[in-house]
Amino acid sequence: MLTFSGFPNNIRYELSRLGCEHMPAITGDEYLRRINALNSNVWYEGQRVTGKISEHPAFAGMIKSQAALYDLQHQVKNMTVRSEKTGEAVGVSYLIPRSMEDLQKRKGMIQEWASFNGGLMGRSPDYMNTVLASFAASLEVLKGEKKTFPKKLRSFYEYAREGDLSFTHTFISPQSNRSKLSVLDEEVTNARIVNKSDEGLVIKGAKLLATQGGITDEIIVYSTPGTAEEDQSYLFSIPSDTKGLKFVCRRSFAHSDTPLSSRFDEMDTIVLFDEVIVPWDRVFIYENIRAVASLYQDGKFIPFTLHQIVSRQVIKAEFALGVAQSIIEMINVGEYEHVQGKMAEMIRGVESMKALLFKAEGTGTLDENGVYIPDPLPLYVAVNEFQRFYPRCMEILQQLGASGMVTLPSERDFSSEIGSDLNFYLKGYEKGGKEKVELFRLAWDLSMSEFGSRQTLYERFFFGDPVRLAQAVYKTYSTESAIQRVNRFLE
Ligand SMILES: Cc1cc2nc3c(=O)[nH]c(=O)nc-3n(C[C@H](O)[C@H](O)[C@H](O)COP(=O)(O)OP(=O)(O)OC[C@H]3O[C@@H](n4cnc5c(N)ncnc54)[C@H](O)[C@@H]3O)c2cc1C
Repeated sequence: MLTFSGFPNNIRYELSRLGCEHMPAITGDEYLRRINALNSNVWYEGQRVTGKISEHPAFAGMIKSQAALYDLQHQVKNMTVRSEKTGEAVGVSYLIPRSMEDLQKRKGMIQEWASFNGGLMGRSPDYMNTVLASFAASLEVLKGEKKTFPKKLRSFYEYAREGDLSFTHTFISPQSNRSKLSVLDEEVTNARIVNKSDEGLVIKGAKLLATQGGITDEIIVYSTPGTAEEDQSYLFSIPSDTKGLKFVCRRSFAHSDTPLSSRFDEMDTIVLFDEVIVPWDRVFIYENIRAVASLYQDGKFIPFTLHQIVSRQVIKAEFALGVAQSIIEMINVGEYEHVQGKMAEMIRGVESMKALLFKAEGTGTLDENGVYIPDPLPLYVAVNEFQRFYPRCMEILQQLGASGMVTLPSERDFSSEIGSDLNFYLKGYEKGGKEKVELFRLAWDLSMSEFGSRQTLYERFFFGDPVRLAQAVYKTYSTESAIQRVNRFLE
């Protein structure tokens, strides 16, 4: 039996709470067992979800896909590494990179998962595992900061890694008032610390959004830079079934006859905190505006997380490109100049993303603790460019597909007595109608369905407002050498 002599008692307790003394890289079944057992407080269409959430129609398809990702950890090579603590196999997305090879190992694992879903699961578990690894690799920025608990954060990361926990997160305040003077608002909607007791912090209020809320083991709650009030500055993680915590869902976009929505619709939820007690063990920062901002801006959050994001986005861009080319071949329009131009636009985007990712890995730096950090600038450029490029790819799909995007009889029509007519009249170039409609339904689901529109919105916003991200690119970029070039001429 493995022992966790290096972990504090609470970690050992927490692992047994999950029903295991030790659980390295989990399987899909284990993921399902845990989230069903949690019975978190999830609201859908005016009712609390009861019974196994993995069987609820709004979640079933996506949860099955998430479970399949966990199974892949045991089916594909290089998805796990040996834990430095136990020697057991743990997920690569928890790895804190020590070299460029480590970073590329992470990319390989991220892209393996993304390939399974066309990059459409933005919140596959590697996203938050990476965030947590970034926090654990950034503890030095909390040195000397009051009301911060870096050792606890490190233990929590190890607990998550050894238990292969799944996470959702919520960082942003509700969209009630975004004016510069919103701090003057008396009616605060954002989740805030309303009390402190021997047990922990008491949190009341709401947070904007948690994708996959209610279907993960835990939720990480954090205030991003810009938080102006101490009672709204914190970093903590709590189990999704914590008393007083509610997840309120949007309408599901999963429909049984759609190829993508039915499998990859990651539910978005509003998160409500009704005097939720966060035990001190789970509080990593509180009432310290500078510390929360510093962990975000000065630590490894940005380079690590962006590396995960861009690795996934490369796969998603290639998927979109593949759909575009398949449409071209299906209706035989490849000879037209503007069609070639549109494909060239997509190819430029895909290859630029790959090059930026490659550059970020190659020009990374080793910090004083031996952590290898990808270069954030090319990653910032890539993610900011993708906010424009991905919607453009979806526009190109519509421009290429034209009416094919809506002439979509159902599977049932094809199996009915009119099926053979449809197969003939809707035929493509060298392909029958059924095959053509299957491809176009995929293209529609990617670019036009509720699911597809949400995917576009996601890529525009999930890592922040494109306008302010562009500002970050500008501020990160050193213009010194460019100015020197100009000065040489002026002199
Ligand atoms: C599909 C989806 C999933 C998401 N999932 C998550 C999640 O799981 N967890 C999580 O924490 N967050 C999540 N987010 C939230 C995401 O981080 C935010 O959408 C993003 O940070 C932008 O914030 P906002 O939506 O509040 O937009 P706002 O900040 O309200 O922006 C609205 C408009 O106002 C403008 N604006 C507002 N303030 C300023 C300003 N100061 N300067 C200039 N312009 C301004 C913006 O440019 C924009 O045009 C998700 C978002 C989406 C769309």
